[in-house]
Amino acid sequence: MSIGKRLDRIKNDLPENVRLVAVSKFHPVEVIREAYDAGQRIFGENRVQEIVSKHEQLPPDIEWHFIGHLQINKVRQLVPLVDTIHSIDSLKLLNEVQKEAQKVNRKIKILLQIHIARETHKFGFSFEEAETLIKNNIVDACPNVTLSGLMGMATLTDDQEEIRKEFQSLAAFYHSLKEHYFPANDHFKELSMGMSDDYPIAVEAGSTLVRIGTRIFGERV
Ligand SMILES: *Cc1c(COP(=O)(O)O)cnc(C)c1O
Repeated sequence: MSIGKRLDRIKNDLPENVRLVAVSKFHPVEVIREAYDAGQRIFGENRVQEIVSKHEQLPPDIEWHFIGHLQINKVRQLVPLVDTIHSIDSLKLLNEVQKEAQKVNRKIKILLQIHIARETHKFGFSFEEAETLIKNNIVDACPNVTLSGLMGMATLTDDQEEIRKEFQSLAAFYHSLKEHYFPANDHFKELSMGMSDDYPIAVEAGSTLVRIGTRIFGERV
């Protein structure tokens, strides 16, 4: 099946308010171009070097999303190219993005990554840490950063109920933040959850951004 067909299949299944991030990491520019030609404009990558190189070779109207763990010393290279960073997982990283975005006079959309999985090696803030950041207006104090919402990854498991529980808990947290801190703020609106294997559950739980790679591009090598 062609990439365009696979994209159509996925998009036809998504509710209107859910956007698709095509996760193109490890795939060459030729296949990204194929997805672009089929109408896809949002692409997700998890290595800065790869975005730098692909950005150069592909059309300028692509919206690049960074979705992986971001090292402090790579922020400077990323900030001129990226639209949204899904994976803000420390205060230090947030401050670095602010600093570098200011230098190039850009405003970067960010999501706070929340640790919802059972695996301890996954990155992200706890609910308490994220709420403390927001309550103390830490993100508001960053003029070159817009807080667009939250991101989370479920545990890698076949247990669908476990996955559902994790996505639902993140969605409930998102809605409580929205209600308490952002009732009239149109920017805080994204809930980034769901990958190839679990996105239908994520969408059911209220995801607005699904990050799908394998189902579009096949297995990564
Ligand atoms: C690789 C990756 C994805 C896409 O995973 P697939 O299973 O290929 O859909 C989504 N989110 C993050 C954070 C990733 O690193």
